[in-house]
This record gives sequence, C-alpha cells and structure tokens, in this order.
Amino acid sequence: MDSKDLFALALGLTKPWYVARNELDTVKRQLEIGIDFERGGTFPCPECGQAGCKAYDTEERRWRHLNFFQFETVLSARVPRIDCSSCGKRPVQVPWARPGSGFTLLFEALLLTMVPHMPVAAVARLVGEHDTRLWRVIHHYVDQALATRDDSAVERVGVDETSSRRGHNYISIFVDLDVPRVLFATEGKDAPTVARFAENLEAHGGEPASIKEVCMDMSPAFIKGARESLPNASVTFDKFHITKIIAEAVDKTRREERADHPGTEGAALRSAPESRDDERRPTRLRLRPAAPKDPTENRPCLPPQARIPRLLPSTAQACRDLPQEVV
Ligand SMILES: [Zn+2]
Repeated sequence: MDSKDLFALALGLTKPWYVARNELDTVKRQLEIGIDFERGGTFPCPECGQAGCKAYDTEERRWRHLNFFQFETVLSARVPRIDCSSCGKRPVQVPWARPGSGFTLLFEALLLTMVPHMPVAAVARLVGEHDTRLWRVIHHYVDQALATRDDSAVERVGVDETSSRRGHNYISIFVDLDVPRVLFATEGKDAPTVARFAENLEAHGGEPASIKEVCMDMSPAFIKGARESLPNASVTFDKFHITKIIAEAVDKTRREERADHPGTEGAALRSAPESRDDERRPTRLRLRPAAPKDPTENRPCLPPQARIPRLLPSTAQACRDLPQEVV
C-alpha cells in the first residue's frame, strides 16, 4: 500500500474517486491531497438520484481538512457536473463535504465539537481560519437542528437575562428545565420577550398553555409577560436571586449592628428582640439565630431559616416566605 492508497483508505473514498497525488510542503506546513475520479466514472444525480450520469465538465474545488500531524491539510479535486436528463446540469455531491462548504465534513465535526466549549474567535485562532467562515458552518447546523426541533413536551421553563457586549444590551434566554437545553434567546428583557418565546414555542410544536411552570428572577416585566403569554404557568422565583437578596439584607443589617454596637455584631443578631428598637424588630426575629460566617465562602453566610431549600412552588408562597424587608 502506498501513501495514495493509505490516504484513500483514511478518507473512505470509493470508486470512481481515488487519490491522484499528495504533496507535503514543509515550508508552508501544508499537506495537499489531490482527489480525482476515474475516466468514464459515473455519478448519481444530486437532485433526482438517477444513477449512471457521466461527467459533463468539471470545476476545481478545495476543502480544509483535519490536520495531518502538525500540517494543515487541504483536499483538492476537480468536481464534475453531470447532465441529468430530468434535472439538467448539476455539480455532483462529493462524499467528503456538504455542498457549498469549504471544509470537509470531518473538519466541520471538529469545529462543532469545539465551539460549545470556547469562544468562536478562540477556535478560529486555534485552527487558523477566519471566524466568519466558522460562523457560517455554525449557523448552517444550528438552523438545521432548529428546523427539526420538537418542543411539544416542554412544560417547565426558566428565563433569565444577561447583558451583551459589556453594556446595557440585554438578551433574555429561555431554557427547558427538564431537558437542560436552550429553547430561545431574544433581545431585551421586557414582557414582550415572553410573548416572542411563546410564538417560537408554537413554531416548534409546543403549546404556551401547556407550560405549567416558569422560573425567573423577580423582574416585574417577566412576571407580566408570563401572565400574558403563558396563561397556565405558575411563576417560581429562582432561589439564586432570592438567596442573593436575602444575603444583601442580612449584610445590611449586620453593618447597621456594627455601627450601632461596635464589637457585638455576632451577638446582636442572636440577642433577644426586645433589646432592639421596634422598627427593626420584625427583621431581627426572622434572622435569629445568626449563623457563623462560612470560612469556605467569601460572602455573607445566611441564617439557616433564610436559606431556600428548593425551588419554591409559586409566587405567592415565595412572597409569604420572604422576610418583609425584601418583599
Ligand atoms: Zn436528476
């Protein structure tokens, strides 16, 4: 077996395709594998599948392939056009790449393996390609996956906003809580974002009225949007946001205690409520006894009763359970 046969085997080529040449350029650090087809070879029509079509003419094409050791590898081939009696002149579909792509299928598979784990710009630097070429591949496969997505079983969703480009450009992201996956992302963080999610859900076979639960922060806009667009959904406040607010309230109280009674901060939260003034008493009652600061975490530690053990089932219960100061 010579190197051509070896590459043909590695590429999985079958007749009439074969490796005609391979050239290793150690200065450009590039391996080029030239593929050709046998004289008189026939191909199926890419439109109707009619077999036995002969080449009418050819076009030179190149595809970036997986690296050969440290060498960037390029496949090149003259791709025939066939003249189908039903469909006319059509370029044949090569088995190593999808139509229109400048990458082989294996290279695209490598890209899609990497992009969930790092920024696209970083992948582009790593593989030595411009990121706009990578984005075209990503958009192709994302669009393909979205076109076949079935949201008919979605019943519990979560929504949260994040800012983009370090500014006040917000994006709201909707996720499936049962099968962890992103369902929808849209600009903004207002009530209409929920309406757009409901439309997108319907477009993928889902039913807004089938959504039983939506988990969110305490954004009035999201609450309004859920009431308007997800009529049967119970709103649950995400414990992350509730815990954060309670932690801030406890910290505020602790700072006030420190200012009022220097050196007695820990005792203050545990002391009897009658020693506090009336205005602060309700909060103090809820905060006793104070937990010691958790040495493993660099943030205020919540008193045990303020910790949220699980997702609360509804807005009403969430509000009932919260200290009045934070409601
Ligand atoms: Zn045809």
